[in-house]
Amino acid sequence: MRDVRVIQNFIAGEFCGPQDGELMDNINPATGSVLSRFPRSKAADMDAAVQAAQEAMAGEWGQWSAERRADLLDAVAEKITERFEELVEIESLDTGKPRSLARAVDIPRARANFRFFAGAIRHQSTGCHIMGTPQDGAVNYTLRKPVGVAGLITPWNLPLYLLSWKVAPALAMGNTIVAKPSELTPMSASVLAEILDEVGLPSGVFNLVHGIGPEAGQRLVEHEDVSLISFTGGTQTGKRVAATAAPLFKKLSLELGGKNPTIVFADAQLDVAVEQSLRASFANQGQICLCGSRILVQAEIYDEFEKAFVEKAKAMAVGDPALDTTQVGALISQGHLEKVESYIELAKQEGGRVLAGGKRPRLEGDAASGAFLEPTVIGGLSPTCRTATEEIFGPVVTLHKFETEEEAIEIANGVRYGLSASVWTSNLSRAHRVSAELDTGMVWVNTWLLRDLRVPFGGMKDSGVGREGGDNSLEFYSESRNICIRLDA
Ligand code: NAP
Repeated sequence: MRDVRVIQNFIAGEFCGPQDGELMDNINPATGSVLSRFPRSKAADMDAAVQAAQEAMAGEWGQWSAERRADLLDAVAEKITERFEELVEIESLDTGKPRSLARAVDIPRARANFRFFAGAIRHQSTGCHIMGTPQDGAVNYTLRKPVGVAGLITPWNLPLYLLSWKVAPALAMGNTIVAKPSELTPMSASVLAEILDEVGLPSGVFNLVHGIGPEAGQRLVEHEDVSLISFTGGTQTGKRVAATAAPLFKKLSLELGGKNPTIVFADAQLDVAVEQSLRASFANQGQICLCGSRILVQAEIYDEFEKAFVEKAKAMAVGDPALDTTQVGALISQGHLEKVESYIELAKQEGGRVLAGGKRPRLEGDAASGAFLEPTVIGGLSPTCRTATEEIFGPVVTLHKFETEEEAIEIANGVRYGLSASVWTSNLSRAHRVSAELDTGMVWVNTWLLRDLRVPFGGMKDSGVGREGGDNSLEFYSESRNICIRLDA
């Protein structure tokens, strides 16, 4: 094997290998070749990281002011700018996503998360409640303390973006961290560890432990000295994490899977709805938890929508993530590709018609061994069948026809997930009415994935528990304590 980069854990301010020396291969999904090797950490490595984080909590970090922590987060953002193109390349190689997407979304948004929480901590205020009068009353005020050691577990689809969404508010509120990124995408987390080290974060405040979920991840969740778990990943894993963490009374945030509806009414601006639902379907190869994988179209415009949508899906450029012209890169792994393909077979068994895609593209050179799939559109399925109700998490969407607003809402809410939805209409009253009826944590009207970092982010039903974002993150990554002082004492 040619020399490949070896990634390390970062524990107590030192880059180090796993205690038993075992490494795993990290595969480039666009070529099938080994990209790097990383630690298959075990309980002993995780325990060392948690101990380092606990000691750091008791050290100088605990005395840092909010202003100083904010300056540090701004310095991280500056370093991301300095290493921007390196991070773009790493994220694209690790995930298979188009480099242009990492450049436009992943890395800028990771940087924005650090800047945002630097600002949030500088400007945060807490509650104050006056009782009675100055003569016989009392004043209550809220004091926020860090929770302690935060365990942060992230998936492979938006590696640095989602890690920074947790690391920035956790540091802003003064916690210490043990992070466990996905085994499939370990690389950008290691660059973040280098950056945090370079900007002067005290040793042990941020620790990074690579490894696989059932070993390193499980140990992090069950460790009794970890006070908080923020988990983003699949619903099945989330169930397991919740079952482990709940009896230990950890603070828990679960950001889980989705099967999000895109609802297009006959009064929508059709060209915009087609263009944007295409983006919502296939951005990041359909591997964004917020992707709209069920497209519900009102009967009057169904045929016209289907024709335009299918034509555009067929025209998408699939291939080498490094090319600027590529719109759809590789899926995360061969294993995931096979899982997604199994849903296309299931769709056929359930009576679906493949209107576009459905197969692997013929690619030349290194990409010939990559995990690529053509953007796939399936029609003719019942909205209650498995293909239309289970999360596929790939470039596969189903099209469904509806007649009335009530029917659209019923179909949209007829799944176990409740993460997000998008509604396309030019009728303002309908936009409000339908949005209010949808059982999802987030609704976009005439847009998709427009993010404001101040707003609540999270899902309902099987899509998760809790909200992060803006004040919700500051709240989650701290303990709010009430102090009550009698004024006449
Ligand atoms: P996953 O298999 O659930 O893994 C997520 C993370 O959990 C990985 O780091 C994984 O490690 C780790 N893990 C696995 N088993 C564990 C255990 N027993 N204890 C602790 N950690 C464990 O999810 P994924 O396939 O990486 O990501 C795709 C899923 O994430 C999709 O369902 C998607 O919808 C969801 N997602 C949700 C959001 C949201 O905000 N709601 C955002 C992005 C993605 P390994 O990688 O080593 O297995």
